Amino acid sequence: MTTKALTPFFIVLLLMALLPASSTPAVRPEMIRVAVLKGIDQLKIDGSGLLIMDRQREPLRVTPPLTVKGERKRLWVNGREAASLLITASTMVIVNGKGYRGVIEVIPAERGVLVVDELPLEEYLIGLINCEISSLWPLEAIKAQAVVARTFALYQKESRKGALYHLEATILDQVYDGCSVEDARAAFGVRETAGEVLTFNGDLAQTFFHANCGGHTEAVEQVWSVRRPYLTGVTCRYCLDAPTAAWESTLSLAKIEGLLKGAGVAAPALRDLSAGTRNGSGRLLTVRLTSAKGVRELAATSFRKALGSTVIRSTNFEIAVSGESARFTGSGFGHGVGLCQWGARSRAADGFSYREILTYYYPGTVLRKMANGV
Ligand SMILES: [Zn+2]
Repeated sequence: MTTKALTPFFIVLLLMALLPASSTPAVRPEMIRVAVLKGIDQLKIDGSGLLIMDRQREPLRVTPPLTVKGERKRLWVNGREAASLLITASTMVIVNGKGYRGVIEVIPAERGVLVVDELPLEEYLIGLINCEISSLWPLEAIKAQAVVARTFALYQKESRKGALYHLEATILDQVYDGCSVEDARAAFGVRETAGEVLTFNGDLAQTFFHANCGGHTEAVEQVWSVRRPYLTGVTCRYCLDAPTAAWESTLSLAKIEGLLKGAGVAAPALRDLSAGTRNGSGRLLTVRLTSAKGVRELAATSFRKALGSTVIRSTNFEIAVSGESARFTGSGFGHGVGLCQWGARSRAADGFSYREILTYYYPGTVLRKMANGV
């Protein structure tokens, strides 16, 4: 070999030695901001190896455990005023006894404080599994839930761009109670679908979901003022044997009148209630109220919201008034739009894959892996 022949090879070797081991920049994981507490006056924060900072990432000289108080957009940490508070830990930050991953941000609000957990989306999903369903469910149901929750979270992130947070940690969006409820099976189900989302015409689908549809899922426009071709409602008999399939509640008319009043619906001296019209999925569109003001029809979704979504578990119900009380007997649990969690559970137990389950509840959607793979 001549020196000339060696030269290009040598240059390559030299370049390899000079360049960093990996010239590919690390991909930052997709992050999500979840409002884990809202409007509370005081909270306790603890954990091992806490790094406590202000928003400018300057360390704050306070010693954990922290007692944080907030009012009228001002914040006190262990009695000292602070403009803002950011906390991380080696494993988890404990907020009011619950563990959270990522960065906890405490933001003073007009009333109390807002606590936001910013963490990688995939880690959020692992904790979510045992809040929304159970990691003991069939694996294909866990995988379906992971895809639906990932898609929903990203859809909300996109639509709430610039807001203080992307997601509520309650049934308003998706239930999330921190990382203390994570387990290996939930993690496995999430990892098996890493980065997978449901799309429609190339865009993220709006993947609403609920506990139990009671036999037929609901068209989205019956609950919210949007129309989606993949949320028109499908028959689902798979949830009918579930413990959440049927419900009943009895309330006094006086109690109902009070709850309606609290929701801004005047029905003084309420003396009768009856079912109004129903839609194609069997759910009530309206409830008829008879009071001193005469007879009025109230949207069944508003009626459910006023009485409480765990008291009136769905809008598919019958009403029987007897004396001073009303008895409600109903089917299903939740708004009924999109994936039926208990239906997905039975389908998975019956051998359906998570892809088949998703295609069934969101017809026309396409499963895709996100470009950065998360
Ligand atoms: Zn169902």
